[in-house]
Amino acid sequence: MSRQYDYDLVAIGAGSGGLSVAQRAAQYGAKTAVIEAGKMGGTCVNVGCVPKKIMWFGAQLAYALRDARDYGFAVENRGFDWSALVHKREAYIASINNWYHTYLSDSNIDEITGHARFIDAHTLEANGKTLTAERIVVATGTRPVVPDIPGAGLGITSDGFFALDHQPQQVAIVGSGYIAVELAGLLNSLGSDVMMYLRKGHLLREFEAMLRESLMEMMLEDGIDIVPRTQVTEVRRNPDGKLQLVCDKGRLTGNIDELIWAIGREPDHSGLQPEAAGIHIDERGYIPVDDFQNTNIAHIHAIGDVTGRAPLTPVAIAAGRRLADRLYDNKPDRHLDYANIPTIVFSHPPIGTVGLTEDEARAGHGDSVKVYQTRFTAMYNALTAHDIKTAMKLVVVGSQEKVVGCHIIGPGADEMLQGFAVALKMGATKKDLDDTVALHPTSAEELVTMK
Ligand code: FAD
Ligand code: NDP
Repeated sequence: MSRQYDYDLVAIGAGSGGLSVAQRAAQYGAKTAVIEAGKMGGTCVNVGCVPKKIMWFGAQLAYALRDARDYGFAVENRGFDWSALVHKREAYIASINNWYHTYLSDSNIDEITGHARFIDAHTLEANGKTLTAERIVVATGTRPVVPDIPGAGLGITSDGFFALDHQPQQVAIVGSGYIAVELAGLLNSLGSDVMMYLRKGHLLREFEAMLRESLMEMMLEDGIDIVPRTQVTEVRRNPDGKLQLVCDKGRLTGNIDELIWAIGREPDHSGLQPEAAGIHIDERGYIPVDDFQNTNIAHIHAIGDVTGRAPLTPVAIAAGRRLADRLYDNKPDRHLDYANIPTIVFSHPPIGTVGLTEDEARAGHGDSVKVYQTRFTAMYNALTAHDIKTAMKLVVVGSQEKVVGCHIIGPGADEMLQGFAVALKMGATKKDLDDTVALHPTSAEELVTMK
């Protein structure tokens, strides 16, 4: 490793990607630093996966309290203290932030606080200090999009949602992706009145049709008001402080306590000056990379959400670790395979999905595609007034019936998918699943007994 520079490797951004590449590179003996403008852990830890999952657990408990009566318990939900949960959640997050500070120091990784900018292709400036690096990894993530319409600033994004110290009663959510359905589900479960505005007809439009149709059905049954094919064109504040939405169809909705924009995320290079290093940025603002996380500049790499590929925490981590293995552990071919990445949507009920949708499989493999599917009430819900349906679909291809897609919606789907994702990645066939002895009584056993 060269000592011509201050560092062998500097990661910009201490989120899932930047921390993972720095940790792994330091393990191999590289002199490493991480520059972070905000809090340790980035989006996932501070305003993403972690606080979201805590709120989701709270929402699950609200459902469990309701179901408890059906199991003979004389319990009653006598209120929910939003600020108490938020307080505990933020204390938990602070402990993770602190853990990272200690971990970096114990691992001999320099932590530099400040907003990094490129001076040239080997030189960065942050917080008034200049440093040079043989290799630089850009892992600066994305930020939520706010639409360019009058009054948009009266709404909040997921960042603002996690800053709420009280529970909003009437909530409007604009968007149809992961964040929209997750926030809608947990707010509804915790007792808010939720309206969702979709500009098109579906939730989670690119997901397997069975999943999005089942989710839409169950969210409507749970009392969420879903308004399809409607664009919000203006937001106004009424004299009483409530918000009013003006929509393209002339519809006016008033009395809203909180409006949440959940219409996607975008990379933010403000202040980074990637042009000073000659880094190519695509038309949507992402940093394009090849299969090895290389940008157009040989010693500058990019990982995670800023690359625009599968914006999920485990993807950023896996890409970062593999990059460090390649650079510092003599593994020249090591890289992340972006095919068959499993993903969970923490909706109510949750979704677990990996591989091709039925439509994608038919487009690629025509008549050799076969699907196995089932829909049932899980044993737990057989006793509850709240009837949640579980649905599963396996998409298989060819005479060997290779499994190319596995899609689950229902209680437990989030914990069910991981093992099936391993099987699919290894090339399992339907017969392999059938030859696996079932676990009984579970919902998961349906995946190895489907006819
Ligand atoms: P980030 O984690 O965004 O980190 C980028 C870091 O770079 C930030 O800390 C930022 O402050 C810093 N930075 C930016 N510019 C500079 C600069 N110039 N100088 C210094 N620092 C800079 N994924 C899942 O897998 N599961 C989930 O359940 C899940 N839930 C989510 C829920 C929400 C509400 C959101 C918003 C996202 C969720 N995600 C989830 C996605 C996940 O958070 C991201 O995929 C992941 O955080 C991406 O990691 P990253 O390292 O690319 O970027
Ligand atoms: P998504 O990309 O999931 O969804 C945003 C959706 O909003 C679009 O697909 C689009 O759907 C709709 N939309 C876009 N523009 C507008 C508009 N102007 N008005 C109304 N609707 C609009 O983005 P999110 O912000 O929800 O999440 C960002 C990423 O973070 C996700 O892609 C995911 O990778 C990650 N994430 C992962 C989670 C998890 O793993 N559980 C949880 C949360 C986030 P359409 O075109 O159909 O209108």
